[in-house]
Amino acid sequence: MAQYTPMIQQYLQVKAEAQDAFLFFRLGDFYELFFEDAINASRELEITLTARNGGTDDKIPMCGVPYHSADNYIQRLIEKGYKVAICEQMEDASVTKGMVRREIVRVVTPGTVMEGKTLGDKSNNYMVCLTGNQNTLALAACDLSTGELYVTSVPYSKEWLKDEIGIYEPSELVGDVALLETVEAEASPIGRPVVYTSWTKNKEDLVRQQFGEAVWARLEPERQACIARLFSYLSETQKRSLGQLTQISTYEPDHYMILDPFTRRNLELVETVRERSKKGSLLWLLDRTETSMGARMLRRWVDKPLLQKGKINERLEAVDTLYNQFILREDLRAELKDIYDLERLVGRIAFGNANGRDLNALKSSLEKIPRLRQHCAGSSSATLQHIAETMDDCNDLLDAIGQAIVDEPPVSVRDGGLIREGYHERLDELREASVNGKQWIAELEAREREATGIRSLKIGYNKVFGYYIEITKSNLSALPEGRYERKQTLANAERYITPELKEKETLILEAQDKMVDIEYGLFAELRERLNKEIARLQKLAEQVAEIDVYQSFAVISAERNFVRPTLTDGYDLVVEEGRHPVVEAVMRDGAFIANHTAMTKEEARILLITGPNMAGKSTYMRQVALISILAQVGCFVPAGQAEVPIMDRIFTRIGAADDLIGGQSTFMVEMADIQVMTDKATPRSLIIIDELGRGTSTSEGMAIAQSVIEYVHDIIGCKALVSTHFHELAHLEESLDKLANYSMAVQESGDKVNFLRKLIVGAASSSYGIYCARLAGLPDSIIERANGLLHGFEHAAAQVAVGSEYIGNEKQEEGLKLKGGEFQHTDSAPLIREREIVESAEYTPSIEDS
Ligand code: ADP
Repeated sequence: MAQYTPMIQQYLQVKAEAQDAFLFFRLGDFYELFFEDAINASRELEITLTARNGGTDDKIPMCGVPYHSADNYIQRLIEKGYKVAICEQMEDASVTKGMVRREIVRVVTPGTVMEGKTLGDKSNNYMVCLTGNQNTLALAACDLSTGELYVTSVPYSKEWLKDEIGIYEPSELVGDVALLETVEAEASPIGRPVVYTSWTKNKEDLVRQQFGEAVWARLEPERQACIARLFSYLSETQKRSLGQLTQISTYEPDHYMILDPFTRRNLELVETVRERSKKGSLLWLLDRTETSMGARMLRRWVDKPLLQKGKINERLEAVDTLYNQFILREDLRAELKDIYDLERLVGRIAFGNANGRDLNALKSSLEKIPRLRQHCAGSSSATLQHIAETMDDCNDLLDAIGQAIVDEPPVSVRDGGLIREGYHERLDELREASVNGKQWIAELEAREREATGIRSLKIGYNKVFGYYIEITKSNLSALPEGRYERKQTLANAERYITPELKEKETLILEAQDKMVDIEYGLFAELRERLNKEIARLQKLAEQVAEIDVYQSFAVISAERNFVRPTLTDGYDLVVEEGRHPVVEAVMRDGAFIANHTAMTKEEARILLITGPNMAGKSTYMRQVALISILAQVGCFVPAGQAEVPIMDRIFTRIGAADDLIGGQSTFMVEMADIQVMTDKATPRSLIIIDELGRGTSTSEGMAIAQSVIEYVHDIIGCKALVSTHFHELAHLEESLDKLANYSMAVQESGDKVNFLRKLIVGAASSSYGIYCARLAGLPDSIIERANGLLHGFEHAAAQVAVGSEYIGNEKQEEGLKLKGGEFQHTDSAPLIREREIVESAEYTPSIEDS
């Protein structure tokens, strides 16, 4: 150490406190990075690497960024999943003898950013703390930018951990190292870099102080420990008040439907499987929110469908009202549209970086609240009325901002120009003095032009010399000797001052300095006042968000012809004319074929669906799951009518061959998932299995598929939708009382297969594999041989022939007639509506499809 210069020694001392972060070390107008940091940062940020003497023989690697553009560089490092420690000069270098004191003022981490594009408007940015042991597991999730803080705990469960992390998608995790390692190894990949920091320190005092003893005492010990751990990390990195965290929301995981990460992905709840984009997901379809906090709440609701019928109905009741009242809906939307992101504004107020424009954004948002409340109060919805009754419009805060801040304040809060006239007496006096002074200078200019006869004489100002009189060289001869005092010579002009001018200058500059100080003081005072009211503003933001989600549900439900589902505590799920909300919405010709679903305790709990590829099996199965999820989220559903029992968990699995996305295309993964399913599913769950047992040999795959289906049927007793390639499994209908065969109707005409996308009773007789082979132009001899073999296999398996009929209203079947070719699935050809044949997409399977 001793060999280094004092500055590098100081650097190394500070760096020791921030080993895992890039240290931005302030030196005058730059942040400098040294040693390894410099080498790595120059690579990551593509900035020039230099070197400087530091007292040793070898030069020290160094790079730097100007302080005024540092934010941009910091953001880029954060987005790449790094932490950045910001070290400032704590003393004024111009008045300090020797080295100025330098300290880390904040460590910016992916989970604690407060600004920039890392924070999507419509998404949360969570950091998660995990603590626990073999018995219990506690999780605290916090979004510093919005002030949300959740905590929960469960008996130790690796699956639960995966599920929950899949929902929060944190950008940063801290806590017990063993738990972090589990997440790192097990959790499905999150679409951005994640920072893991093992953290063992606690800050219990801080939590107790911040939330009060009563709140603390109500927390279970394991939750207390988890929050204390999180707070320790936050306070050590942020080194400032965490005033935006005003409330600890505790929750019990078993109050929500469980959706594991795979299921969420497979059902494309918040992003699509392939592009991982929001567009094309259920969330994308549902999102007609007008505010950012509404959009985030919508996402939280979709993430956690409810299990309590009462609560779901409260939501449905509000949606129902808005669904039926177009004008009310539009009125609400009109107000919501102009409401800014209250949560993030409040976050900035607490964080101390809100400026005049932020306060005005808060003000103009608050201006919308009274009308929003009025609309809710005047509605016929009990849910909306309740919100109106409990809504605090924060009118006092609106007034406070309106009185203090000018209409168009500058970005900076340190340069004045943001406080209104008439707000503060002394400020007004100083302003007047400054205005008078400037007036005097203007008059002086006119006077001197007159006196000297130099028309181009002018009075200017710069930071170094202050006010000066400027005369161009060509006019110098006209200036009487000794009239002014010479100050500066330029190429083509001379600058002068007079004692009188300097006197006024002092007055003006003093007044300006004082004004800036006073303005900043007044602004800080106001921000502090608002800071004390953060809890009120957050409550309001939440209510606004809730209204926004209701209107969003109502808009999409009305637009897409959804209906209000009937939630039941019973077992049966009966949906008439159900549709897949997203597939339907993106279909250009709008020709989505609706299908019925009846899964009942008495008749059929398991639907075994056969049919060729592209027939619509997965779409159908997913649509059933999505209808349930939508219902439990509190939204209307894409159906003609829907009776939906409350489900505790939806579990979907796709045959291993389909799961190429995660790079985990192994049969083993599928089996491990099935194991979890058999362990966790209850009679209130819904299981969806697409192409079970595909990843292994036919006979083995079939054997496994059959035994899993039997287990679900006999032991679990839940509802299940199973699609399979193995037509041979159709015989299970014989032995499993509550299993029913279905298939997706297909019509052959000439060389073509038409997919009718209609679910019909009975198993498909052919998977059309050989048909596809023929279409692909395989030699006739091969086709014939394959047909012969198939016949033999089928004969040997003594496949059960199953009759087929339409499910659905008898009425619909009246007068239907068959057009075109013949039905191949069944002995007795079912009747198909002419319209359906015409509307259904003509599809010629290619070999890739089979
Ligand atoms: P499978 O699982 O049987 O291979 P999919 O469910 O993937 O078939 O459906 C294939 C395609 O058929 C879908 O991408 C969709 O465009 C279309 N499709 C599915 N169901 C319907 C329907 N009910 N109405 C209209 N088109 C549908």
